[in-house]
Amino acid sequence: MSFIVAIDGPSGAGKGTITSILAKKFNLLYLDTGATYRCITLKLLNENIDFNNIEKIKQVLEDTKIEINDKKFFLDGKDVTKEIRTKRVNENVSTVSHIPEVRVSLVNLQRKMAQGKDSILEGRDIGTNVFPNANVKIYLDASIDERVKRRVKQNKEQNIDISEEDVRKNIEERDYNDLHSTVAPLKKAEDAIYVDSSKTNIKQTVKIISKIIKKEKHKYDMIEDSYNMWKETPLKIIARNVLKFIFVILYKIVFIPKNINKKNLYSNKDEGVIVCANHISYMDATGIVMQNKRKVRFVAKSELFTNPVLHHWAHIFDIIPVKRGEGDLKSVKLCFKTLKNKEALGIFPEGTIDGLKKHTDLKNGAAYMAYKAKVKVIPVGIKGNFKPFRRVIFNYGEPIDVSKFKTDDPNWIENATDYIMDQIIKLSK
Ligand code: C5P
Repeated sequence: MSFIVAIDGPSGAGKGTITSILAKKFNLLYLDTGATYRCITLKLLNENIDFNNIEKIKQVLEDTKIEINDKKFFLDGKDVTKEIRTKRVNENVSTVSHIPEVRVSLVNLQRKMAQGKDSILEGRDIGTNVFPNANVKIYLDASIDERVKRRVKQNKEQNIDISEEDVRKNIEERDYNDLHSTVAPLKKAEDAIYVDSSKTNIKQTVKIISKIIKKEKHKYDMIEDSYNMWKETPLKIIARNVLKFIFVILYKIVFIPKNINKKNLYSNKDEGVIVCANHISYMDATGIVMQNKRKVRFVAKSELFTNPVLHHWAHIFDIIPVKRGEGDLKSVKLCFKTLKNKEALGIFPEGTIDGLKKHTDLKNGAAYMAYKAKVKVIPVGIKGNFKPFRRVIFNYGEPIDVSKFKTDDPNWIENATDYIMDQIIKLSK
């Protein structure tokens, strides 16, 4: 997914000005989503279409082409940049924008416009609805007096003749509509950062938000970079071996590990294999990686790569990143590549530390990949609590062939995962 910044907030909070400056500063595609609602409103008004005539509106939505070029808006090929800011559009846009059919169609259009491009979108529901997984979510607010003042100034600059009284009435009405609508009401996303621009000027507000974007962009770049595996250079091999050498000594002193039936990890050494263990602590994967000559590449959450030290560490040990909560195809591809290269892939079916205790659903990824790549699963039961100077036991089990579970039963993959987890639990007793 590309880098997405969502700027939501009420009319006149300064979203337009601020977003446009930020777009330039961070080289992002700028999308004023309010303008897309304005375009449709203009078309419905021009064609005298009753806002209750949903069938007709659906037809219009299908037949209309809205395009953006820089800051210019085109409705069916005609430049309507100025027309969409007129009084009659102002007075009707809120009603039109809350027609569910309009909403669905324009949200799709907005997602399409931003697809594959690093973008900044301003609107009312970007962080809550259009891009709920946006990298940065800002809720930009300002007092009503300040918002009226700004809108009047903006209108004057654009030679739009609306009295201050009308501007205030219109903003109040739109606030009410936007906040109380049953369809995508204006509300701060839980994870959005609230920025009040009432007492800050443009430069100061831009500075506040820039700081947030910069930090998140850096994280985003580090995560994206984590999918580019470092080449297996002599320097990387030396670094890995040196780290392993030092770490194993420390590990042995602190956790007094005992390994049982480690040979099982090597029984399929000319094939790819998936190592599945119970997940007690960050130290468990480390124990498997450090104490084996066979390279085991664990899958870990991509945020790990945002820590400058762990970023290097993860690259040296070829850890495979995965973005949680989304179908991370890049990660899956890396996993299959690992198995194709006859390497060992490490996965925790619990998905998270103490997943079983927390009653999270088991993840089927290991069973699925083992079946698809035709490789075996090595269960590992880990016993201990990783408190210093208490023994930790790593018990390697017999390889499991998941293909024996493949039946017409649509739940075969869950059955295979349950079996793997049962073996792990038995081995950890
Ligand atoms: O931002 P602007 O004032 O141009 O938006 C016009 C109207 O479009 C808003 O008053 C709001 O009703 C609607 N809108 C929306 N969702 C968005 C953007 C705008 O409902 N994401």
